[in-house]
Amino acid sequence: MREELLKGLTEEQIEKIKNCKGQEEILKIAKEEGVELTDDQLEAVSGGCGFVQPTNCPGCQSTNFITADINMDGSRVTYYCNNCHRKFVSDSDGPRML
Ligand SMILES: [Zn+2]
Repeated sequence: MREELLKGLTEEQIEKIKNCKGQEEILKIAKEEGVELTDDQLEAVSGGCGFVQPTNCPGCQSTNFITADINMDGSRVTYYCNNCHRKFVSDSDGPRML
């Protein structure tokens, strides 16, 4: 999560948003708190807490995969499947083939 994007929020609000599990929940909390989030802020916080950990390769369903690459804030991870030798990626939208 890029915390500089959360300037203007109280620590309590940031803590609540960090603990949420997806973009919908963030929006709900923001509404309850009366906070206006910009698209950038929403992207930053949802990327940080909505990441979906894959359990198997979306192409062949194999569990034999390794982590190939992780982006700067850890919100998007690329995996390499040892079974079908293809790469797939996962972020807050869940795992999918590249
Ligand atoms: Zn595979």
